Amino acid sequence: MEPVVNVQGLHHAFGKGSLAKPVLIDINLAIQPGEIVILTGPSGSGKTTLLSLMGGLRSAQQGSLKILGQELLGASKQQLVQLRSRIGYIFQAHNLLDCLTAQENVRMALRLQPGLSYDDRTAQATAMLTAVGLGHRVNYRPDNLSGGQKQRVAIARALVTQPKLILADEPTAALDSQSGREVVQLMQRLAQEQGCTILLVTHDNRILDIAHRIIYMEDGRLIRTESPTAAVV
Ligand code: ADP
Ligand code: MG
Repeated sequence: MEPVVNVQGLHHAFGKGSLAKPVLIDINLAIQPGEIVILTGPSGSGKTTLLSLMGGLRSAQQGSLKILGQELLGASKQQLVQLRSRIGYIFQAHNLLDCLTAQENVRMALRLQPGLSYDDRTAQATAMLTAVGLGHRVNYRPDNLSGGQKQRVAIARALVTQPKLILADEPTAALDSQSGREVVQLMQRLAQEQGCTILLVTHDNRILDIAHRIIYMEDGRLIRTESPTAAVV
């Protein structure tokens, strides 16, 4: 099977000419369908930059970056927009719209899906919120939800389109350990049900066991890979 993520010889620098600062150096990484991979390493090592390149949120400069079969190096704007609609993103800050209810926030993610009526979108948003345990909170605005509940709305929003790839950047950083673990287990369960691949950046040692593989990054390089049982951080 073709990997969902296939990165080869990827380099990235911020700044131009003599001011260019290399941030990613010769990254090589393949992630297979259904894999849950954790990416960890010190702050500033390049994890967010790598994730934003994979998600088509930033243009690739050098190397090869194939995501869901699409080569991103030299891809057109339209190809990047297309790709983005096939990926679920979950960030540290949930990025929900405060003026919309939980259901409206999740429903918005479906607006680009072809062939769905307004009622279909509402039904799917409600079903996904129910799946994350928020069936009784569909009409609440983010202000009236706890941190863990907001992050679960963000997960519902990322998963409602049934993406084949989820990119999550420190999704538990703002949560206490109990809700952090719950949120990640929820991602794991829903991803298994939908046959989806997850790449998750985290500093949170308590969730390492949900991964099939843990990759360590330092100073812009992937320095080693371990299985969760061997991981000592
Ligand atoms: P991490 O997510 O591992 O903390 P980042 O990918 O955010 O690391 O950052 C890697 C390096 O790139 C850091 O030195 C950071 O200062 C730098 N950096 C990140 N984003 C930018 C940017 N937009 N412009 C210039 N430098 C950046
Ligand atoms: Mg980061």
